Amino acid sequence: MSIADNIKSLKKETDGIKVTLLAVSKTKPAEELMEAYNAGQRLFGENMVQELVEKQETLPKDIEWHLIGHLQTNKVKYIAPFVSMIQSVDSIKLLQEINKHAEKNKRVIDCLLQIYIADEDTKYGLGFDEAIELLRSEEYTALKNIRIRGLMGIATNTDSEKQVKEEYYELNTFFDGVKTSFFRKETSFDTLSMGMSADYKLAIEQGSNMVRLGSTIFGTRVVKHWKNDTI
Ligand SMILES: *Cc1c(COP(=O)(O)O)cnc(C)c1O
Repeated sequence: MSIADNIKSLKKETDGIKVTLLAVSKTKPAEELMEAYNAGQRLFGENMVQELVEKQETLPKDIEWHLIGHLQTNKVKYIAPFVSMIQSVDSIKLLQEINKHAEKNKRVIDCLLQIYIADEDTKYGLGFDEAIELLRSEEYTALKNIRIRGLMGIATNTDSEKQVKEEYYELNTFFDGVKTSFFRKETSFDTLSMGMSADYKLAIEQGSNMVRLGSTIFGTRVVKHWKNDTI
């Protein structure tokens, strides 16, 4: 199936349910992103800063770019002028840096807190307690140029459906709790980003309203890095 066919069938699959489709285009060349674009896709996710910047420069300006990979504070400045959403916020320091550069660019940048739900050592993210601590802090309350739109989580890479389901269930429950405790009056706190190609159906069953799909749309990734990262 072509990229356009894949998008069409995913749109059909999610028709009538409120799920936003983020096309994860990391490692994929611009032509393939354009195929998705021409099929109507406007939301794209990348995990490397330099790749994101270079693609943004050459591709249509109405694309909404989401950063979904770990972000170092010294790289925030490169994406602050244009990024639509940073899904991988995992510390107050990073949030403060995003706020600083958003202010310089006279913008408010939408962010998700990345919550650690997997049973693996390698995944970034805040624990439930750390997220609460961040939201309660004066440092956070002082920030005027960021807006927390919701939470993002990556489940364990495992064949156990039961485990993945439980992790997504917990994140959904936590999302409801955070919304009630900290964002009761803010309708903009509305995004629960969970689910990748291997597990997005489970994630949707557990309440996800944004799925991040790479291989389901573009096919499997062969190369790990698109180009050498220099920034
Ligand atoms: C690569 C990536 C995805 C998409 O992965 P697929 O398995 O190809 O769908 C989703 N989320 C994050 C954070 C990623 O890094």
